[in-house]
Amino acid sequence: MTEDPYAVARQAMLETHLRGRDVVSPRVLDAMARVPRDQFVPAALRDAAYEDRALPIDCGQTISQPYVVAAIAQALHLTGGEHVLDIGTGTGYQAAVLAELAATVVTIERHAMLANEAADRLARLGYANVTCVIGDGTQGHSAQAPYDVIVAAAATPEIPPLLFDQLREEGRMVLPLGPSEDQVLYAIRKHHGKAQRMPLFPCRFVPLVSGEQ
Ligand code: SAH
Repeated sequence: MTEDPYAVARQAMLETHLRGRDVVSPRVLDAMARVPRDQFVPAALRDAAYEDRALPIDCGQTISQPYVVAAIAQALHLTGGEHVLDIGTGTGYQAAVLAELAATVVTIERHAMLANEAADRLARLGYANVTCVIGDGTQGHSAQAPYDVIVAAAATPEIPPLLFDQLREEGRMVLPLGPSEDQVLYAIRKHHGKAQRMPLFPCRFVPLVSGEQ
């Protein structure tokens, strides 16, 4: 096996930014240790891959901060058998972390260029359990619904109703809600068809763009 030049930086990220804060789930920490974030960021930013911050990617978007990806994964309590819908593929990094923790992941991206690059990258890294879809994530992906878990990496004022319809009863959702300057990450459970919301922490994501905007 060839040596991984980023192994030390990845381990340091785990200690300082994840375990050093409140990411304690062994499954989530293992997943974060397995996914090479350096392969997801633009080549020029590779040396910053294990700093705990969002980084710019193509199409004016960002790859999420490692802590946020790990905190989302931990809030989902994945046990390995789940069918997951991930909205906002971006680079595919969060989809890869989810793919380490669940059975199948469907990920949707509205920018075809990002979606195609992510699909190639995920295939190259061996994530055969991820399906990349180009489309508007606010519509979900009914062909493979219902989902046990839905995650969005882009913020919206309210839960898109079509997405909520595609979540199974007792399913879980994590997404940022609110305007761009004032977002909160929520964990949501579908109970008797209604959304039970629990705020996790303030956050800042790119907007979830719906329709033809
Ligand atoms: N999870 C990504 C972070 C991507 S940032 C990663 O790990 O790299 C959020 C992404 O959501 C952007 O790529 C943006 O283009 C996408 N997005 C925004 N609105 C969307 C929509 N309605 N449907 C699908 N993708 C959307």
